[in-house]
Amino acid sequence: MKKDDCIFCKIANGEIPSRTLYEDEAFRVILDLGPATKGHALILPKDHADDLYELPDQTAAAALVLAKRMITLMKDKLHCQGFNLVQNNGEAAGQTVRHFHIHLIPRYEDDGQHINWKAGSPSGEELDAVKAQIVE
Ligand code: AMP
Ligand code: ZN
Repeated sequence: MKKDDCIFCKIANGEIPSRTLYEDEAFRVILDLGPATKGHALILPKDHADDLYELPDQTAAAALVLAKRMITLMKDKLHCQGFNLVQNNGEAAGQTVRHFHIHLIPRYEDDGQHINWKAGSPSGEELDAVKAQIVE
């Protein structure tokens, strides 16, 4: 299902033009207009889901298989040295477009980009407490 006011629904379903790298009945893969590096692409499902929580399992599985296929092709064509897959859920995590998408970000030696976090240094007790909060 599409959502009326969603720009990625419109792009995924061809109502707004995009630089499409791949398309099938369930997905469109486009170049990001604000690329982190050369070739930065987005996998968009054609059916609307706000985020990964809402995405049907079958679509989630197919999206990762497609990501593997795309980065294998792009690695060959772009001669990049690495790839980051980034997938943001929620404003706090940096999601700016509320239509599920996976970023495919080619990485090049010395590309000057940083997709990193500052490592914390919790105590063993703190890690145990987090584990208990999640699974006990
Ligand atoms: P996120 O912050 O994970 O929601 O990522 C949204 C991404 O969509 C950003 O990298 C934007 O550069 C990209 N973006 C937003 N609008 C468009 C558009 N019309 N076409 C292509 N990429 C877009
Ligand atoms: Zn949408």
